[in-house]
Amino acid sequence: MTRIGIAGLLHESNTYLPVPTIYEHFAATSMTTGAALIERWRGARHEIGGFLEGAGANAVPLFATYAVPSGALTADCFERLAAELMRELEAALPLDGLVIALHGATVADSFPDADGEILRRLRMRLGAGFPIVATFDLHANISRRMAAESTALIGYRTNPHLDQWDRGVEAASLAVRIIRGEAKPAQALEMPPMLVPIACQHTPVAPARRLYDDLEEVLRWPGILTASVAMGFNYADVEEMGASFLAVADHDSGLARRAARWMARRAWDRRHEFAAALPSPEQAVRDAAVSPLTPVVLMDVGDNVGGGSPGDSRVLFDEVLRQRVRNALVVLYAPTAVASCVAAGVRSEVTIEGIGGRVKTISDGFYTETEVRHGGWSTYDQGITAVVETPDEHTVVFTSRRMAPMSLQQILSLGIRPERKRILIAKGVVAPRAAYEPVAGSIVLVDTPGVTSGNPASFDYRHRRHPLYPLEPNAEYP
Ligand SMILES: [Zn+2]
Repeated sequence: MTRIGIAGLLHESNTYLPVPTIYEHFAATSMTTGAALIERWRGARHEIGGFLEGAGANAVPLFATYAVPSGALTADCFERLAAELMRELEAALPLDGLVIALHGATVADSFPDADGEILRRLRMRLGAGFPIVATFDLHANISRRMAAESTALIGYRTNPHLDQWDRGVEAASLAVRIIRGEAKPAQALEMPPMLVPIACQHTPVAPARRLYDDLEEVLRWPGILTASVAMGFNYADVEEMGASFLAVADHDSGLARRAARWMARRAWDRRHEFAAALPSPEQAVRDAAVSPLTPVVLMDVGDNVGGGSPGDSRVLFDEVLRQRVRNALVVLYAPTAVASCVAAGVRSEVTIEGIGGRVKTISDGFYTETEVRHGGWSTYDQGITAVVETPDEHTVVFTSRRMAPMSLQQILSLGIRPERKRILIAKGVVAPRAAYEPVAGSIVLVDTPGVTSGNPASFDYRHRRHPLYPLEPNAEYP
């Protein structure tokens, strides 16, 4: 019987965060092996759920873990995760193939290209020619090592990420075909000197849409097995940061190279389109105060939890208070505030860092999402959560765990009616759209400060490649 190892090691690492990511963050979020891995991931609209579907009875669960986006992994964290993966692999051998879910923007203090290092270790143990198919997030910074050490890489094609399950099925199916001798991948990576600002990474609309139209065209070329576009993660200061284009052809490295270059060249020729001017908090709140299209979702770009930000910024809510606009909702990561509310009890009047109101609800913070949402998760835990309502009809949700706003159940589960609010402050950029579009009157990306600022020029990069458009406007792509 064919045996396909199933693995996952996912983390989006924001190197501008001073707080490192440690092993316990993974252990406390999601870490499974063997039967527990299948239990955790079977049916999940995630690439690992897709792996299990695509591999079917051939699936051999190894090790899968992820943590909420945060700072770079400590060397100790990376080595422990890698060791557990390799130990489970060793115990499961012999295998015929391996599919692994990586993020592609994982950074360890010891290995800036952590994904490449994982693939290198797998390749070293499994040998040249062993089928290793890896999936990656659309926000990956793909390195030459990742491409060299894998048999094939397959990235998500949508942002918000709603095709994770499909890419997982595709990866496992490709692994099966390689094992059967029906396909022999030749992979090519092309890295034009450009980055795509995060505000321009919304795939259903131009300019991002065009990159994926080109990708769809390449997928129809005879001989192409798969292809991907990674828009990159601008908050990881690593050499490979930026956009990249990848094609995998059957037996034909020349074809793969032509396809990757064709996509890259066409993106490069449209590089000027990837620019976004976002309103200031002051302007955005002023517009939202009078907008007929309510609720107005104000995306707090600089405090994007899904990009590693803390989720505790008051910039937008304070601006709402300053302009005396009523009826806003904000979710803040604030464990101390939760503790104060719990101590005070429901119906108590509290004043927390200048926010005065009544404790409406205290919740266990668990919620479930049944729709396909960015991230592919169905169960969430935002920790003990307190809801405070103010005399100005503001609803302030304090959580004791950091949680990206990928599911509207985050607030619906607390009894909040988002459609009745004038302003919904969401700590993200593109990813929360899948959750918020059904209730939003309008969505506005706001130029807020933070470690996920939408302006790449505001970061002090030390390790990225040079030149890189638009940071070097005169960059050339020979
Ligand atoms: Zn992503």
